[in-house]
Amino acid sequence: MSTMRSHAQLGVIGGGQLARMMALAARPLGVDVEVYDPSADACAGHVAALSCGAFDDVVALASFAADRDVITFDFENVPAASVEALARDRAVHPGAVALATAQDRLHEKRSFNALGISTAAFADIASRAELDAAVAQLGLPAILKTRRLGYDGKGQFRFRRPEDAEAAWSALGDQASLSGLILEAFVPFQRELSVIAVRGRNGSFASWPLVQNWHVDGVLSASLAPAKVSAAVQQQALDYAQRLAASLDYVGVFALELFDSGDRLLANEMAPRVHNSGHWTIEGAETSQFENHVRAVLGLPLGDTRAVGHACMLNFLGDLPDAAAALAVPGVHWHDYGKAPRAGRKTGHVTVRADDIDGLIVALEALGRALHREAQVAPVIEQLRGR
Ligand code: AMP
Repeated sequence: MSTMRSHAQLGVIGGGQLARMMALAARPLGVDVEVYDPSADACAGHVAALSCGAFDDVVALASFAADRDVITFDFENVPAASVEALARDRAVHPGAVALATAQDRLHEKRSFNALGISTAAFADIASRAELDAAVAQLGLPAILKTRRLGYDGKGQFRFRRPEDAEAAWSALGDQASLSGLILEAFVPFQRELSVIAVRGRNGSFASWPLVQNWHVDGVLSASLAPAKVSAAVQQQALDYAQRLAASLDYVGVFALELFDSGDRLLANEMAPRVHNSGHWTIEGAETSQFENHVRAVLGLPLGDTRAVGHACMLNFLGDLPDAAAALAVPGVHWHDYGKAPRAGRKTGHVTVRADDIDGLIVALEALGRALHREAQVAPVIEQLRGR
């Protein structure tokens, strides 16, 4: 579809908060969104029509997709075979190749290296003996990871002594024949960055300013944008993202997670979808990642990705803090995903936006106090002060 009819029909596979924010961004564009999720209380279902079915149910997926102009995802682990089946008779963006690349850490890292995108040293691990050989070759510390279905630090085992290889194998060895395993050298990074980028159906490309991210227990806690980086670092991230998008003939928004090792950027993984480290773009950029994803997959012109001032996003897991206390702080924007709170579950976020860095520091200090979350804002404030 190269021009938009009124009420284009967009189907989103996955009905979590990413699909929810996509649906909210799609509506002003005159786009109707329907989401597909195994769970009847998927939170995107509060703002869009919801079809329930399993991600590997090819028949249910085909019937969901039948009336839609374009299919996209908020979840990348849909079986590649289901995606290929859908793509036979309708536009599916991003496509099966991009999803398959992102679903397998080994394939993903090999693809990065083939494009000249640096990564940590890594090795394919199929047996206990191969783990020992890889430890000898890559050195320690290292991280053993499942090739598939790992996210937010799950399916990983870090170790620093050769004798801990046994514990790593006990924890994940049974996955060697199921998902496959990869050993990665530990990167002593200075900080974690991500680049969020978008590519249109006609090959047009845009990226938002680099983002600095802080994780707690492997889960994103805070994002700051624009990250304070040199022009050379920004350019290297842009080159990586452009090369990756072109090689995958990518359509839509994606994120590339990066380690800043001091002298160069190493790519950790790509997410073939809108990304948690891009939530700040809703208020902190001229066009949000959600709007641009919808524009890209429908073949519409991409919007300006420029930052509007400075923004910091804070994630909330489990019980949400007091919304009124947060909203009393100028510059704060509240996002409640409408999910039942469960420990460790992403239930909402705030974005604090200010015209300049001093204003952002003042707002973050006030927010930290108001929500009793001084520890969450502290590393961001420290980074901002170190300018
Ligand atoms: P991942 O699931 O690969 O995104 O990893 C989750 C988090 O673990 C990352 O955001 C990093 O903080 C950390 N991590 C993953 N791989 C490495 C590595 N090779 N070296 C250092 N830290 C890592």
